[in-house]
Amino acid sequence: MNYQAVIGLEVHAELQTKTKMFCGCPVVDSTKAAPNTAVCSVCSGLPGALPVVNKKAVEYAIRVALALGCKIAHTSIFARKNYFYPDLPKGYQISQYENPLAQFGVLSIDTPLGTKDIHITRIHMEEDAGKLTHVVDEKNGSYSLVDLNRAGVALLEIVSEPDLNSAEEAVAYAVALRDIVRELGVNSGDMEKGVIRFEANVSLRLPGAEKLGTRVEIKNLNTFRGMEKAIRYEIARQTRLLDMGQSVIQETLGWNEDQEVTYSHRSKEEAHDYRYFPEPDLPPLVVEEDWIEEIKSKLPELPRARLQRIQRNYGLNLEDARLIASDEDTTRYFEEAVRVDPEITPKTITNWIAGQILSWINSHSKSIRDIPVQPQELVNLLQTLQKEEINQNTAKIILEEMLISGKPANQIIAEKGYQQVSDATTINGLVAQVLQENPKPMADYLAGKETLIHWFFGQVMRAAQGQANPQVLREELEKQLRAKKRD
Ligand code: ADP
Ligand code: ZN
Ligand code: MG
Repeated sequence: MNYQAVIGLEVHAELQTKTKMFCGCPVVDSTKAAPNTAVCSVCSGLPGALPVVNKKAVEYAIRVALALGCKIAHTSIFARKNYFYPDLPKGYQISQYENPLAQFGVLSIDTPLGTKDIHITRIHMEEDAGKLTHVVDEKNGSYSLVDLNRAGVALLEIVSEPDLNSAEEAVAYAVALRDIVRELGVNSGDMEKGVIRFEANVSLRLPGAEKLGTRVEIKNLNTFRGMEKAIRYEIARQTRLLDMGQSVIQETLGWNEDQEVTYSHRSKEEAHDYRYFPEPDLPPLVVEEDWIEEIKSKLPELPRARLQRIQRNYGLNLEDARLIASDEDTTRYFEEAVRVDPEITPKTITNWIAGQILSWINSHSKSIRDIPVQPQELVNLLQTLQKEEINQNTAKIILEEMLISGKPANQIIAEKGYQQVSDATTINGLVAQVLQENPKPMADYLAGKETLIHWFFGQVMRAAQGQANPQVLREELEKQLRAKKRD
């Protein structure tokens, strides 16, 4: 049978504020800081310690909610979600339940069939739990270590409607969301560090059926590739079950990245009763309209809007536009360069940014913001190239020197004598010299080995220290070889 896959994602994104959600403890990189060094009476759950809301975290949450077109509640309520687990010192997590901060959002994704709107059910604020490390050693047997550095870090939960219908769409949505929180400066988007985490709810139904099928929830999807594979695996597994006339059991699954299978998490799963009730230690969270408007006015351009604008305004193809619009800094660099000289086309500038600058940055682990070559200086170099004062190859060499030394192009050209040799007489002399110094290849060429022309070209270019105008060189070389053939 052919079923329709139905997928809804739950995304947890840490809000990377300086301090935690309800106390003054610093938010530290959990992969670097020593365990339990950023902990106080509030986030370790000592009796009597009282939470205080971090205003910056609320601002970050509103930023995300606005970027996703949500309706923001002027009053939302914090609630206690009660459960026992060793990473949760208070025995409850402060979250939001019936009255979340934001609802009714939308995120558009690109699919092979065109743009698709994925609706956002709700966004609420909560606090992260600590981190457990399970250890087995010979002396002590198996035990778990608790690190509370992460306990109490502000967390945003973003829940989508079950609008996604394939693994690819789910990944497109997840990537778009990751890009947005990164762009908004609220989360680094580092999946390896666990600062953004995804859970996928997956079910199947017959095409046209109105009722949703029974879903499973897949946890610990740590990479986009893993997410794609896990959802594909689940779709295949559920298809087999339904085809055999069996039913899907609603449960929580984990994803085993190594074996590429899902596995059942807990047995009595859906018996969860979190006994939610309003958090008595916090007043309702009131957000004034003025503040929302102020935050809205400062939102940056979002990745998708930027991509569309770059494509439209500069006539770039999608692939080029993606490179240029991949982050705000690259876009700014590109647009400054384009403005300098209308003679240097956006396409040319794109080629140099994508082909030279971005690859240099990547291999040197730098960002475009750190490089000493300003857009104006890149354009100066390209103007010199356009005037044929240097050739393409030399321009690449010069750009690399500019990136390393920060010197402007014309200074490097003067110092190193990089001017292109376009003078036909000079090139003519070099061609004659090379032909004369290589009688054997010359004889082979005359005997019919025509491809040796490329070798001669290379030799002359070398004699010119790479600086000959390639077009003039080719013409002069062909002229002299023709003459030799006639002799
Ligand atoms: P819970 O909090 O128990 O996980 P929710 O109702 O909040 O339950 O749903 C969580 C996610 O599951 C949402 O993203 C929602 O879109 C998705 N979802 C709900 N029902 C289904 C279904 N039948 N198939 C696929 N996804 C579903
Ligand atoms: Zn604390
Ligand atoms: Mg869930």
